[in-house]
Amino acid sequence: MRAALLVAPKKIEIGEMTEPRVGADEILIESSRFGVCGSDVSFYLGHRVAPYPFLLGHEVFGRVAALGDGVANFEIGQRVIVEPNYPCGVCAFCRAGRGAICPDKKAIGVTAPGCFAALFTAPAEFVWQVPDDISDADAVVIEPLAVSLHALWQSRARMGDTIAVIGCGATGLLLIHAAVAQGIRVLAHDKLADKLTLARQLGAVIVIESGDVAPLWRDENVTTVFECAGVSATVELALSAAPRGSQVVLVGLSASPASFIPLRLVREGIRVSGSMIYDHPADFARTIALVKHGILQPAQIVTDTLTFDQMDRALQLASTGQAGKVVVTM
Ligand SMILES: [Zn+2]
Ligand SMILES: [Zn+2]
Repeated sequence: MRAALLVAPKKIEIGEMTEPRVGADEILIESSRFGVCGSDVSFYLGHRVAPYPFLLGHEVFGRVAALGDGVANFEIGQRVIVEPNYPCGVCAFCRAGRGAICPDKKAIGVTAPGCFAALFTAPAEFVWQVPDDISDADAVVIEPLAVSLHALWQSRARMGDTIAVIGCGATGLLLIHAAVAQGIRVLAHDKLADKLTLARQLGAVIVIESGDVAPLWRDENVTTVFECAGVSATVELALSAAPRGSQVVLVGLSASPASFIPLRLVREGIRVSGSMIYDHPADFARTIALVKHGILQPAQIVTDTLTFDQMDRALQLASTGQAGKVVVTM
């Protein structure tokens, strides 16, 4: 089968791989669409090192090609997506419904080979049928949408509130879309004008490139700040400018130290929390329902659609940070 393999930093080659065998309780999926994510980009750029050649990818939409023994409730040809993080299901966190922070979770395209190939197997428990009401274009963006919704659901932001979103990559844009749909007013921040145009199209009321945001956030009664850029400078911005009594939710994945003044957070009652992916299975179920019922249309953030042969170009494009969501079709 054809597969897009990362053979060295900034080098993806389309090659042949042996077809995966479908195990018991697994589903073989014929891939038709992929989404490129920030974690694919960090491997592509060599910021995270993989055992080369490495199969990237975790956002996939396709059709059921074969069923393992013991898989019920699925049929050949059905349209499906995959929830690509497999929590262990037995640790204390998993049993408490917090699979997102399972220390033993397997993440495809990150800690295990990914899905950028013609065929791909996944445990049936993590394969979701896509209702007919959902287009192929929206289906492939459901996984990143679940990440943004989890962050919103974990926060204290409610209808009628005003929030600030820093970083208008896919996570930030989908968070804006979901927040606006539930009656939350959004101020969007990014250093790129194109991203702010997308943010405005999705319903953000104030879009700002940079500068001292503290007075604005205070005057606009921002109750929650979502940090979605994932760099220390924006984490520091969120922690230093968050208004009295507000909450800062860290969604971006920054691995560099960030400094803050503890006294300010203590004295002004600022809550800080992190939001990691989504919890299995509740978050995917709710995300799919929101798209099925037409409340959210996540494909609005797709700016570029390339072919499988152009996978290297797709990763390059995603690496520039200029694009919204980059999608690749088989
Ligand atoms: Zn992702
Ligand atoms: Zn677990």
